[in-house]
Amino acid sequence: MSIYELRKMNKEGTVFNAKDTFYTGEYAEQHMSMYLESHIVVDENGRHRNRYRLHSDKPTSIETALSYDINCPKCGSRLKQIGRCLNAHDLGLYKCPVCDKY
Ligand SMILES: [Zn+2]
Repeated sequence: MSIYELRKMNKEGTVFNAKDTFYTGEYAEQHMSMYLESHIVVDENGRHRNRYRLHSDKPTSIETALSYDINCPKCGSRLKQIGRCLNAHDLGLYKCPVCDKY
């Protein structure tokens, strides 16, 4: 599991770049306004894939969360949302279509 800090890339605050950190999940939850938490899944071909959960400390509607565009922390490509928001703080689940090709 890794924590990635999100940096706003446009003035509307809807496009984000994700940057590596050494923070723990616990630290991120207490101190960071928005971040991605990665975890590894094994796909149908036995390959290890990164999945990213978006977290926000302020309550966020599903509509607002859907308007976010987040760039992959590994390759900079646009992440694709593959899972819905769990609640107002634990938001969508994402994967990178480019990293997942290899
Ligand atoms: Zn990627």
